[in-house]
Amino acid sequence: MHGYGGAEQLFYECCAAPGITDANDVTVKLRAAALNHIDIWNRMGVTGIALAMPHILGADGAGVVAEIGAKVENLKVGDAVCLYPPTGCGQCEFCRTERDFMCLRLRVLGERLEGTYAQYVKVPAQNCFPIPADFSFNEAAAFPLVFITVWRMIVTNAALQPGETMLIIGIGGGVASAALQVAKRIGARVIVTSGSDAKLERAKSLGADHGINHQQENFVAMVHSLTDKRGVDVVLDCVGGEVWRQSLASLKRGGRLVTCGATAGGQPQDDIAAIFTKQLKIYGSTLGSRREFFQLINFLNASKIKPIIDSVFPLCEAANAQRHVEAAKQFGKVVLEIPD
Ligand SMILES: [Zn+2]
Repeated sequence: MHGYGGAEQLFYECCAAPGITDANDVTVKLRAAALNHIDIWNRMGVTGIALAMPHILGADGAGVVAEIGAKVENLKVGDAVCLYPPTGCGQCEFCRTERDFMCLRLRVLGERLEGTYAQYVKVPAQNCFPIPADFSFNEAAAFPLVFITVWRMIVTNAALQPGETMLIIGIGGGVASAALQVAKRIGARVIVTSGSDAKLERAKSLGADHGINHQQENFVAMVHSLTDKRGVDVVLDCVGGEVWRQSLASLKRGGRLVTCGATAGGQPQDDIAAIFTKQLKIYGSTLGSRREFFQLINFLNASKIKPIIDSVFPLCEAANAQRHVEAAKQFGKVVLEIPD
């Protein structure tokens, strides 16, 4: 991209391949990249992070190690890898305590680092992980950002338990569909909402126990009737806006709300009385640690869960792929296939 704005700011063109400048870096010849909403926020220039133009978007990718720095010992040329997106400064209090996804000078692929909508990307060797068993490159590119985010929200923060009930607001996007898969595998009962009956049906085919069309029904009332007036144990709300209060109202006493986004608005009307009288917990998070990413890969290997891929575009069609995401028609991830 050469400037902020709409999808017309994306150009398919040649530029120099990244070279290794740090002995701990590697370059990866990418075979696939995946889209995330953050790509669109970055393209629009609304994240508060100034991008150096021209800039390459993309936080998710998978491919084959092409070149390794002099100090790299955990990888060799030709290894198939998926990429852990964030990198820390290595020096702040969070980096020194294995939480560099919380770094004060955080750099993420496609943001402060050149991203994955490209044939080659440069990353620290420690950000390369083995691809889960039986995953294609498209699948290996489709899971990292959404699944690490979901893992931290549901497993680390909410600590969702078998038999608990979880409500997922707005099924369809990558995070929501990954959350459905993980929550069902944990053994939770899952209620999903959407304005699209087709998406609700798709969610049921993936194991959702109940679907609520929030444009036709009051989902708080439905949730209470589905839970014997108790409310749910956990809500995943990455929508925000006018839905936020309803999400809080859907929780049982002591319930937990997890959020990693606010696609419908980041300044919702709140209900502070509900938060303290009902003893609610609210967890905000983005990304997750390398340790969590490692746990996640083990979980994917054991559970045989794969990311849901909505559609695949060639890299040269990246602008149309972003338009597809902006139209919110997808169920699961949109992937870019990268030519040799
Ligand atoms: Zn740091």
